[in-house]
Amino acid sequence: MKVTEEEIRPDKVFKEYLELTNKDVVTYFSNSKRTEISCPACGGEGMLWAEKAGFSYKKCDTCITIYVSPRPERSAFDSYYTDSPSTKFWATTFYKVTESARREKLWKPKAQMIKDRIIQYENNDPVMSIVDIGGGYGVFDEEIKNIMDIRAIVIEPSVHLAAICRNKGLDVIEKFMEDILPDELPSGRKCFVSFELFEHLHDPRVFLETVFAGMNSNDLFIFTTLSGMGLDIQVLKSNAKALSPPHHLNFMNPKSVSLLLEQVGFNVLEAITPGKLDIDILKNNQHFLEEDFWKNTLNYLSDNELSELQLHISNAGLSSHMMITCQKA
Ligand SMILES: [Zn+2]
Repeated sequence: MKVTEEEIRPDKVFKEYLELTNKDVVTYFSNSKRTEISCPACGGEGMLWAEKAGFSYKKCDTCITIYVSPRPERSAFDSYYTDSPSTKFWATTFYKVTESARREKLWKPKAQMIKDRIIQYENNDPVMSIVDIGGGYGVFDEEIKNIMDIRAIVIEPSVHLAAICRNKGLDVIEKFMEDILPDELPSGRKCFVSFELFEHLHDPRVFLETVFAGMNSNDLFIFTTLSGMGLDIQVLKSNAKALSPPHHLNFMNPKSVSLLLEQVGFNVLEAITPGKLDIDILKNNQHFLEEDFWKNTLNYLSDNELSELQLHISNAGLSSHMMITCQKA
């Protein structure tokens, strides 16, 4: 199914969201103490790569992860996500305008991909339940239950979002992942999932250690996030909408995130970039393109040829949307 940037991120309403965000950045981050950090994937040294909205992104010399450094302290992010006007706008207005397009174009295919992975890696030990970390509105959980006979548990610390999930008849644990006790999760083999969360995390390693600690041996963990090796991000740099501080702090890539996961103790089964939007995003941002290769290519190739090229980009691991499947040994 064809999906375009405009359907899931309509320009007009996204601009309003960005304006609110710019104000919030001043309110919540201008007085926050910032600390230089090393690469969150490999611990290597980074060099300045791009600047945006008063935040600096560095690129790791070793593993090409892109990350915000110096990084404001965690408390600034906590209060930003708890009660800022732009966060509220995203959760209400933006979400409502895009809900049905997102359900059809993003969540249904995602549910199918997760189902495929679960079947692929089941190996005669059936997965009994899905644990959706930061499940938000629970749309994924509704969709996976439509196509699979599986229990879905949403872990969602926000009171507002947890209530929405409960009203949909979903099982909700209204807590942060790190506060969950082992007996709150069902027994039997589980597949933990987390979507579009990893790029926001103040400390990705701590998050992975927390998930790992909450898993039993043989449980799966599948998550999606942005890849800094993605075509549109590499080409557009600070003009890429994905480079959106204070939201997106970590842009690992299939190789660097695999390295980190293995250090934490996971077996990485698959690290792919199934993204479909890179070329469409470049087309919508042609005015920012400076070098000839992409400027000319986008006009030279037909729509069908560009779709082919997008497929090659994804298959080569160079789309900006990635999906990782791993397992606790
Ligand atoms: Zn690195």
